[in-house]
Order: sequence, then C-alpha cells, then structure tokens
Amino acid sequence: MTDTAAVARMVRLVREARGWFQRDLATAADISQGFVSKIEQGLLPLTAEYLDKVAAALAVPTDLLLTSGPVGGVETTCLHHRRRSSVMSVNSMRAIEGLTYLTRLSVDGLSVDVDSVPSKHKLRRMPIAGHGAAAAVAAALRAAWDLPEGPVENLVGLLESAGVRIMRRDLGTAAQDAVSTWPAGQPPLILINRDLSPDRERFTLAHEVGHLAMHELPSEDQEKEANEFAGEFLAPASDLEPLLHGLTVRQFPKLAELKMTWKVSMAMLIQRAADLDCISASQFKSFRIRLNQYGWTRYEPGDLPAETPRHIAGLVTAQLDRHGHDIDAVAGQALMLPEPFRRHYMPLVVDELDTTAVRS
Ligand SMILES: [Zn+2]
Repeated sequence: MTDTAAVARMVRLVREARGWFQRDLATAADISQGFVSKIEQGLLPLTAEYLDKVAAALAVPTDLLLTSGPVGGVETTCLHHRRRSSVMSVNSMRAIEGLTYLTRLSVDGLSVDVDSVPSKHKLRRMPIAGHGAAAAVAAALRAAWDLPEGPVENLVGLLESAGVRIMRRDLGTAAQDAVSTWPAGQPPLILINRDLSPDRERFTLAHEVGHLAMHELPSEDQEKEANEFAGEFLAPASDLEPLLHGLTVRQFPKLAELKMTWKVSMAMLIQRAADLDCISASQFKSFRIRLNQYGWTRYEPGDLPAETPRHIAGLVTAQLDRHGHDIDAVAGQALMLPEPFRRHYMPLVVDELDTTAVRS
C-alpha cells in the first residue's frame, strides 16, 4: 500500500526539478493533464502500472517516488530571499529546490555504509545575535576552526573537512550562483553553479557558509550579512586594511598581486577597501569605472587554481568498491536511473582520478 500524499509530493517535486509543467509530464507519460493534477493533489492513488509509467516519464526509479518526500517544503537558503525581488521565474526556483532535495537524497543514499572520517571542527549554527555582526561571526568561526592569520588556502577542503557537502551542478540559470540546505540532523549541502571562476566560487561558498551558520530562518538583511561574513572570513579586516589603505586606480598591478595571494577577486578587494574605509567614495567610483572599461566586471584576469570538491566523489568510489564496480547498482543506491547517474556522478570519479594523477 503506497502513501498517496507522499507519492503526490514526490511526483510534483521531481516534475518541478525537471522544469516541467503538468502538461509536459502528461505528454511524456501518455496520461491526461487532469490525471497528473489529481495525482499531485493526492486525490488519486497511483496503481503499480501508473507508478511505473510516471517514474519512467520522469526518468527516475520507482523507488524514488515511494520515498516520503519533503514535508513542509524544501529548506533552502539564498533562494527564499530572492523570491521577493529576483528576475528568476518561480519555475526556475522550484527546479533548483527540487534539484537540491533530490541531490540530498542521492548523497544520503551514497553515504550508506561508508565510514565517515570524524572531523575535528564541525560547522555549527552561530546566530548573529550572539556576536553582534556578521563579521564577528566570521572571526569567531575562524577562531573556532583554529585558522591562522592570512588567506584561507583551500576553502573547499576546509569546508569538506568540517562536514559540509559540496557539489557543482548546472542550476539551469545564471541568476543563482549557489543554493544550500541544512535540514535538522543532516550534514549541510551546498550546490554550486557550474562554470563559476575559482575566485567567484570561493566567495560564493563563503557566502553560503555565512547563511548556513547565521540564518536558520530567512531575514531581511541576510544577503548583505552573508556577503559581510564572506569578506571577513576570506580576508579579515585586520590583515587587509594595511594592504588596501590609500590604494589608487594606478595600482591595479598591486591589486592583481593581492588577488593571487588572498584568492579573492579584484572586484571584491575594491569593495572591501571601500567597506573598510581604506579608500574614499570617489576613489571607489573610479575603480568601478575602470573595471567596467576593461570588461573586468564579467571576467577578471588572473586565474586562481580551482578547488575541487572530493567528498561526494569519495562516496561514489566507496560505493563502486562495495558493489563490485556495478554502476547500475550504485545508481540505485543514489535513487537514480543509471543514465543520469553516469552523467552527473561518474565524472566526479574521473575528476578525482585526474587530480590524483596531477598530484603524484
Ligand atoms: Zn545568499
């Protein structure tokens, strides 16, 4: 006996994750749109025959539709705030929420029976009220994690060692750099949009960590606070102020040098110089004009080394070992069909082999 309400939630979530309307699912499953609507409202129990049909149309295993599904919506940061003002369509946002939830289910499945390395420092909630300001939360987290002064060398490695799961995925829109979720009792997960430059990826990750630590509930100022957190976490004011003081537009070479040392964009350094009152408002304006003239608001020179997430790749490798390298079996463990699993998860293992080869 299937739980009609739970199946209804999962059918809708998977459909939305694909960016489909009800009519798209109806066409793909060769059923009427009215039928889809009734299924998603929990008005019709799905018989085994239709369950298989709908699962095949959605390109997911039937097992996935029989999991309980999110009760009370998917908890995600960043996305909720944007809902009020963003250019993104509701459809895109639902697709990202759905993808976030499905990725979490897959990663949970891949974690079964894989020993996790105990981490010395876990990410924990650090409400802003206890520290006064977002920058103070960043400083407290750096201290709690025993980070030395200076740049954060490998942010991805640091976060993964603190139990944060990170995965690059195509979020289907350029309007969103990342999204994160941290359901009670589970490890936090950050999905980061593909093809961000390494400096932008680092800032985005630090921004998401700010949300995860500070914003259990959405707040009015959360984007500003997450940016302030990211700035202070990656480049503490006490280190940076002496370096940025009185900087002028003639000193782009110095900025480029600072970028490579601190592994943050020149645009962020300029913003930080303004926020920390190291430069005047008119100097800041001149910098912005120059960045625009050079086209550096879109792409900055100075390529930083990419930081590749390894944790989820490690889970896939461990499951491949457990299942005698039977990819179909590992896909099932991730509640995915073999083809999409091969497309989205197997390249992680190849990337992992690549980077190992480069290191040795
Ligand atoms: Zn955000």
